[in-house]
Amino acid sequence: MIIKNGKIITWDDPSQILEKQAIRIADGLIAEIGPQDQVIAENPDLVQLDASGQYVMPGNICAHTHFYGAYARGLAIPGPAPKDFPEILQKLWWPLDKSLNMGDVRASAEVMLVDAIKNGTTTLFDHHASPNAIDGSLDEIADAVETAGVRAVLCYEVTDRDGKEKAQAGIRENLRFQNRLNSGDFSRSRIAATFGLHASLTLSEETLDACRAAQSAGEGFHIHVAEHESDEYDSLGKSGLRVVDRLAKHEILGSKTIVAHAVHIDIKEARNLADTGTWVTHQPRSNMNNGVGVAPIEGLLRAGIKVGIGTDGFSHTMWDEWKTAYLLHKVWNRDPRRFTGMDAIQLGVYNNAALANKFFSQAAHGRITPGAVADIIFVDYHPHTPLTPGNLPWQIIFGFNESMVTTTIVAGEILMKDRKLLTLDEEKITFNARQRAPEVWARYNTFVPI
Ligand SMILES: [Zn+2]
Repeated sequence: MIIKNGKIITWDDPSQILEKQAIRIADGLIAEIGPQDQVIAENPDLVQLDASGQYVMPGNICAHTHFYGAYARGLAIPGPAPKDFPEILQKLWWPLDKSLNMGDVRASAEVMLVDAIKNGTTTLFDHHASPNAIDGSLDEIADAVETAGVRAVLCYEVTDRDGKEKAQAGIRENLRFQNRLNSGDFSRSRIAATFGLHASLTLSEETLDACRAAQSAGEGFHIHVAEHESDEYDSLGKSGLRVVDRLAKHEILGSKTIVAHAVHIDIKEARNLADTGTWVTHQPRSNMNNGVGVAPIEGLLRAGIKVGIGTDGFSHTMWDEWKTAYLLHKVWNRDPRRFTGMDAIQLGVYNNAALANKFFSQAAHGRITPGAVADIIFVDYHPHTPLTPGNLPWQIIFGFNESMVTTTIVAGEILMKDRKLLTLDEEKITFNARQRAPEVWARYNTFVPI
C-alpha cells in the first residue's frame, strides 16, 4: 500500500514534516518514504490510500490502562461519596471488578478498543482484574484485541485482597498466558504480555516472592506504586521499607518493569527506579480525579527515569492526557514555565515508543521512518498559523483534538477509514455492553460496602 498526499509528521528526532512524499508499506512495516511521483511510478500495482492533505503521523501509545473499567461510566456509588483514594478502591473499583463475568470482561475490552481506534491510539498497555473470572480472562481480552487489530501488552493484576486461592489463580493466569504467547499461538505479533501486580498495599511478602519466583528471569512486572500515601504507610508497616525499596527487595524492579503513578515516592525511591532502569507511567487525569496529588515528573525525568504516559482507563484520548499534564504541572507549581510542550512529547511520543519497543522488538515504534512499524493515523487539522516542526508540540496541545483522527492503521492494516471502523462493529458492541450493564451494576450493588 502507498499513502499519498499527506503531510507526514515523522516524530523522528528531530521531527520533520514532509510534503510531496509518499509512504510505501510492506509486510506491516514502512518500507520506503520518497518523492511521491517516483514512489507511485515505481509501484504501479500497489493500492493507494489518499490522505487528502491531512497530517499523517504515528499512532498514539497508551502506557497504562484498564480495559475492565468500562462499566464504571455512569455507575452510582451508594452512600456518601468516597472521601479519599482508599475509599474509591473499596467503594468503586474492588466491588466493580468482582462484578465482571467473562462475558463482561470481553464486552468491556471491546468498548475500550472501539474507543482506542477512534481516538488514534494504536498500542495499549492493559492491566486487568476480574477476581470472579480469572482463568482465561487474558485469552478473552487477547481475542478482542486480535479482532480489533491494535497492539496490546496484557497482564492480570495479582492481589491478596480476595484470598490466597485467587492470588494463586492470578499468578497462574499470567504464566499461562505468557506460555501461550511464547508457544507462538498468535498468528500476528500484535500481542505481548507481562506479569501484573495490583499494588504493594494488597500484596503480602509471600505473594511478592511467589510472583518473582514464577516470572522468568529478565522479565518484568506492571504494578501501581505510591498512587496514594496509604501505599507507602502500608508498605512501611508490612516491611519497614517504602514501596519502591520493598519491590526492590523482592526483585520486582528492572528495565521491563512498569510502575504506574509514583505520586508519593521519595528521593531514595526515585534513585532506586533510575538505577534499575524501571519505567514510570504518569496518568494526570486519573490522579486529579482521585485527588491523590501530583507525581514529580520533571524531577523524575531529571533523575534519568524513563517516564511514559497512560490513561488509567479514561478514554484513550492521548492528546487530552498530554494536555492535562501540560496544565496540571503549571498550576501545581504556580509557574507557567513548568512541564513544557517538549516534556509532553518526551513522555507521549519518545518514551512511550521506547517502552513499546521493549515489548514489540521486531521494529521501531512511534516514528515514521523506513523500517518502523506501519502504525499510522490521519489527522484532519487545519492550522490557522504556520505549523512547523518547532511549534508542533504546542499546535497539538492547543489545536489538535482526537475527533480529528479520521484513519487508523496498525501494521499496515486499516482499522478505521474516514471515521468508519472496519474491524469492529461499534453499534453492536455498544448495544451489547449496554444490555449487560444493569446486571453488572446489580452485582456491584451486592459487593459494595455501605
Ligand atoms: Zn491503573
